[in-house]
Amino acid sequence: MKRVFASQDRAAIAIVRELLANEGIETIVQNENMSAICGEIPFFLAMPEVCVLRDEDLAQAQAIVERFESGEARDQDGKKPWRCPRCGETIEGQFTICWKCGTRMEAQDDA
Ligand SMILES: [Zn+2]
Repeated sequence: MKRVFASQDRAAIAIVRELLANEGIETIVQNENMSAICGEIPFFLAMPEVCVLRDEDLAQAQAIVERFESGEARDQDGKKPWRCPRCGETIEGQFTICWKCGTRMEAQDDA
């Protein structure tokens, strides 16, 4: 198991997991609830981390994370942001799942 991404930003954690899942890469999040329960813990230790379950996915996962961090993923296909029909959050166009409540973009058709 290898760490590929760490952030205090839960939205970023969720987005990275979604991007990796889209490529068939299984991940888990470590330290997710640490900051809430351990006030004494140093900042860097409490940071949630995305880890790939299979080490052989590491290189591909790192490439995806690099693309995400550089912002390329945001611009590549020019998809428009969409509004989550369930919670009203605005989601970047390249993501198919609301990072906040997990509703799929397709659910808009039911609204
Ligand atoms: Zn939502």
